[in-house]
Amino acid sequence: MGTARPAHDGAERQRGAVMSRAVLSIGSNLGDRLAHLRSVVDAFAPWLIRVSSVYSTAPWGGVPQQHYLNAVLLVDDPSADARDWLLRGQELEQAAERVREVRWGARTLDVDVVWCADRRSDGVRVCRSTDPTLTLPHPQAHNRAFVLTPWFEIEPEATLEVQGRPSPLRDLLDALDPAEREGVRLTELTLRRAEP
Ligand code: ADP
Ligand code: MG
Repeated sequence: MGTARPAHDGAERQRGAVMSRAVLSIGSNLGDRLAHLRSVVDAFAPWLIRVSSVYSTAPWGGVPQQHYLNAVLLVDDPSADARDWLLRGQELEQAAERVREVRWGARTLDVDVVWCADRRSDGVRVCRSTDPTLTLPHPQAHNRAFVLTPWFEIEPEATLEVQGRPSPLRDLLDALDPAEREGVRLTELTLRRAEP
C-alpha cells in the first residue's frame, strides 16, 4: 500500500530515529461493519503484531445510530513513523467511502492512532505531539472504554501517559464510569483469519 510521501527523510535516518510500534483503534457503525474492520486487518497484515477481539459499543454524542464494532491493533513497521500510520488509516477510511457529515455521526470506518513509539539505539521512546492533525498519545484514549478494553486485552502490561504521567491501562479502566465500561461488550466475531 502506498503512502503520500517517503516514510523518513535522510536526516531522520542518520539520527537513527525510526518510529516502529503503534496502537491503532478501529471502529465502524455503518454498512458491513465487520468487513470494514477486516479491511484494516488485511491491509495492515505485514505489520500486524496483535489483534484484539471485536467489541460492540453503544454510540455516544447523542446522534441516533447503530452500535459500533470496535477493536485495537498492535502494529510494527521499522520504516513507518506516526504520520505514516495516520495516512495509512486515512487511506482505508477513504476506501470504505467514509463521508464526514455529522460530527459524532455514523461512519463506515474510523482509524485512530492511539499511541506510537520509536525504537532507537538508546531505547524505546514514546511519541508525543500536540499537533491537531496528529495528537499523540490520542487525547481521548484514556476516557474511552472502547479503546482501553481491547487494548488491555492484547497488551495488559501497557501504560498510557495522561497529563504527562504514565498509568497502567488497568488503573485507567478502573477510573472510568462503570456505565462507560459496561457499554463495551465482547462479541463472538473475530478479525483473525483462520490458519490456512
Ligand atoms: P474522531 O476520530 O475524533 O472521531 P475524525 O476521525 O474525523 O474524528 O478525525 C478528525 C481529525 O483528527 C483527523 O483529520 C486527524 O488529522 C485528527 N487527528 C488528530 N490526532 C489523531 C490521532 N491520534 N489519530 C487519528 N486522527 C487524529
Ligand atoms: Mg478518527
